[in-house]
Amino acid sequence: MLNVPSQSFPAPSSQQRVASGGRSKVPLKQGRSLMDWIRLTESGKDLTGLKGKLIDVTEEELKKHNKKDDCWICIRGCVYNVSPYMEYHPGGEDTLMSAAGSDGTDLFNQIHPWVNYESMLKVCLVGRMAVKPTVSKGMLPKSQVTDILAKEGPSSPSYDWFQTESLVTIVIYTKQKDINLDSVIVDHQDDSFRAETIIKDYSYLIHLGLSHEIQEDFSVRVVENVGKIEIVLKKKENTFWKSLGHSLENHNSFIPKKDAGLYYRRCRLISKEDVTHDTKLFCLMLPPSTHLQVPIGQHVYLKLTITGTEIVKPYTPVFDSLLSEFQEPVLCNSKYIYFLIKIYPAGLFTPELDHLQIGDYVSISSPEGNFKKSRIEELEDLFLLAAGTGFTPMVKILNYALANIPSLRKVKLMFFNKTEDDIIWRSQVEKLTFKDKRFDIEFILSAPTSEWNGKRGYISPALLSEFLKRSSDKSKVLICICGPTPFTEQGIRLLHDLNFSKDEIHSFTA
Ligand code: FAD
Ligand code: NAD
Repeated sequence: MLNVPSQSFPAPSSQQRVASGGRSKVPLKQGRSLMDWIRLTESGKDLTGLKGKLIDVTEEELKKHNKKDDCWICIRGCVYNVSPYMEYHPGGEDTLMSAAGSDGTDLFNQIHPWVNYESMLKVCLVGRMAVKPTVSKGMLPKSQVTDILAKEGPSSPSYDWFQTESLVTIVIYTKQKDINLDSVIVDHQDDSFRAETIIKDYSYLIHLGLSHEIQEDFSVRVVENVGKIEIVLKKKENTFWKSLGHSLENHNSFIPKKDAGLYYRRCRLISKEDVTHDTKLFCLMLPPSTHLQVPIGQHVYLKLTITGTEIVKPYTPVFDSLLSEFQEPVLCNSKYIYFLIKIYPAGLFTPELDHLQIGDYVSISSPEGNFKKSRIEELEDLFLLAAGTGFTPMVKILNYALANIPSLRKVKLMFFNKTEDDIIWRSQVEKLTFKDKRFDIEFILSAPTSEWNGKRGYISPALLSEFLKRSSDKSKVLICICGPTPFTEQGIRLLHDLNFSKDEIHSFTA
């Protein structure tokens, strides 16, 4: 890789030579402070010109970007487009330009190795230096990546691995920035090791029979700003692995998610609590050798064998309580998954689920669903229309929005049920209105007793137009709707009649 020779820095005419200690700051123009830079980086502006894509950069390509208005610099293997940062750089433009189109790692290490450039420059990240594969790491010969993607689809991830005496680390380079711990699902069962990474609507699979035994628990880390996933496995015996293992079905494939099929793992029933007369909170535990987090707004499939036939139904995970403090995935890497499930006495699946004993097993699929968390970002008004167990996707959305969206002014839940006894987590919902002043609730009952003083009936234009009041004329709004199919269909029609656009509505369906 290219390196700026250290003797060329500081350049004879550089500002850096002026100051004692070899470090100097240049006066910055107005509006070019660190705070201004942070504001710019958070504005959502495309600062690399690559629309969020990460690319592999060759040395030849890097060299081409050596002008002030097109300046790429490599630091510790990552390439940044620093042109937008020029005027904000406390050390001046000349210093940055001295590493233009080259590897500035030495320069950087000399001046400010402590600076968290990864965070400061994350929106300027262009990609990684394309490194030639090394034989010494004992890489598996890569099988052909199934490249059936349309040209505009994400480019295929790749993987590599390395080892220490006691650990084996598998590294997945996704080439995408918007990945997190939800994006990767890892299962180690019997002789199969699977790591499925979801990138936009595509699935990248590592599927191997490992060459040696590993311990049950492993850790998963994500370096979000470089799109790197690290799975750290613990060796059972501290021996040197000559290879990672042998390929199993669809190993190293990158295909549309819809073609990938669902993978199930057996989970133990830990507890079952009554919530209403017919709805229960089920807690299931993932196997120790599984890493799986269900993203907000997504569901999974539960599978049971009922009289010799495998039956599968979709369910939306919730938290153990509506009042749980929202935790970033990195903190809540929990092994427990909670479900609010209504038992239908004449139903096929739910009576069977209800008959399970604590300690029995249910299979859980990988997550599915088309809700994107990004739809909540920068929202001002969030309206949730839920009917019966259609409340379940609202639990995580509500929790996430109140904890993480500073722009949010109003969150209203319109909760449709037959009777008061059917209202799921009523006291928790009411408590939340006291806990957070932005949150409000309206219960609407379709078959109330004569004592009910609140609103009654089915979803209607009158109820909706009174309920869906924006906090300002042009406020950014999202309306989420979920419940029985006729409820959802009618609701969507009414919302269109009330002039809400498609982009302002998300309906939860199968
Ligand atoms: P089913 O056998 O489907 O029967 C349901 C009811 O319909 C029963 O009362 C039954 O008597 C009646 N019925 C069945 N067939 C007929 C018929 N031919 N004519 C008249 N009536 C009939 N549910 C939850 O409780 N919690 C959730 O988190 C949840 N999440 C979901 C997420 C998604 C994406 C979807 C699509 C659904 C979700 N559901 C959820 C619903 C769930 O998937 C099941 O549909 C539900 O649990 C009923 O399953 P069952 O097999 O017990 O009942
Ligand atoms: P329910 O029968 O108790 O009805 C709840 C309310 O829905 C009623 O009080 C009424 O206001 C409204 N409603 C019912 N039928 C209606 C109709 N024909 N027209 C207009 N409004 C109507 O509801 P439930 O038994 O709890 O069923 C919940 C439904 O939500 C299920 O169909 C389930 O599949 C669905 N659900 C979907 C998802 C998802 O897609 N992600 C998640 C959870 C639940």
